[in-house]
Amino acid sequence: MKKHIAVVTAPAQGHINPTLPLVEELVRRGHRVSYATGAPMIETVEAAGSSGVELPMALPSVKPGMTMTVEAMAGMLEWMHGQCRSALPVLLERFEADRPDVVCFDMLTPVGRVLAQKLGVPVVALMPSFASNERVSLQDKLMPEGFDPTAEPLRRAEGLFAEFAAEHGLTGDLMPLRPVADTTSVVFLPRSFQIAADTFDDNFHFVGPCLGSRAEQDYEPADPDAPLLYISLGTTFNDRPDLYGTFLRAFGGTRWQVAMSIGGSVDPADLGEIPANFDVRASLPQPGVLRRATAFLTHNGMGSTMEALAYGVPMIGLPQMLEQAANADRVAELGLGRRLTDDEVTPQGLLAAVEEVAADEGVRANLAAIRAELETAGGAAAGAEVIVDACA
Ligand code: UDP
Repeated sequence: MKKHIAVVTAPAQGHINPTLPLVEELVRRGHRVSYATGAPMIETVEAAGSSGVELPMALPSVKPGMTMTVEAMAGMLEWMHGQCRSALPVLLERFEADRPDVVCFDMLTPVGRVLAQKLGVPVVALMPSFASNERVSLQDKLMPEGFDPTAEPLRRAEGLFAEFAAEHGLTGDLMPLRPVADTTSVVFLPRSFQIAADTFDDNFHFVGPCLGSRAEQDYEPADPDAPLLYISLGTTFNDRPDLYGTFLRAFGGTRWQVAMSIGGSVDPADLGEIPANFDVRASLPQPGVLRRATAFLTHNGMGSTMEALAYGVPMIGLPQMLEQAANADRVAELGLGRRLTDDEVTPQGLLAAVEEVAADEGVRANLAAIRAELETAGGAAAGAEVIVDACA
């Protein structure tokens, strides 16, 4: 039987990209997908084959180098709560008229669970980052060590989500980033990358990175014979002209051919003279670049980290926020690359670190082992099956 699948995700590339291959796969199997997100991502989700549902939803503004404090986290949670509240009427209007058989939601959009409860349909959690349970807490990974989870600002934010849940007769915890108990979950990580994987029960399906038709993106370096270094700080914490300047000095005129993605906030003209061995752009076709890359200097967003694993590219990590730092530490722990120390972020330090990691046979062997695991993790096909099986 053909199913109608609703997806509710915040308009962030890192959250939406891994879900697109699921949409493609579901549509290919003849199911119908309605994808609710903010205006900036509607075109992208429709290109994957879904029908877009525009939500009044944006992303929190983040400042480079922002340190996460209890107040900042609480502010972000309160902001998300406001976004969830304003999204609900739009979701209800659309989906009461065109009922889905399941609602898939992301950790930043718990409003998907409220929608499912109101409609009386099952839910599936889509997890682009580490899965959480009572042993592993994503919220803890976002906060500085030793923070007080019972601090007043966090309790206040928790209270808002509790009220929201109670108003709609929902039991359980709606706080974003918290473990979602007894819920079918599709995790876009291979099991071996998950922290404390053996503490996760059968509700969690570790399907690994999903690229779908993004894998068809191609990239032609100007010098196809030079080793290719890909540099990206992702799509959110990327307003770092200072760092881009350091990268230009580190790798300009070296044996590396460099593809550098700088995002939309920095004007390449402000970076001074661009060395001839650099290709600097606001955005690059990342899967195409990684397919040819020898090394990846990355902020270790989970999406980028998983894509590096899919293409077996060693990572040199320069995380820009705490969750990325947790990812970078996991990469180092599993011997898939390493995380830069603060004093290595100099032209000499960066070049030395990239040369060292690129030449490391142990890292290559570990990447090959994970790629073998990915062959069996199932990817988008397995994820689509989980979603269809969960349907009412
Ligand atoms: N991305 C891309 N081109 C770029 C930079 C990023 O296609 O020039 C994609 C990348 O492939 C990944 C997503 O944007 O799928 C970034 O997600 P990630 O979780 O790595 O980081 P975030 O942007 O959320 O910090």
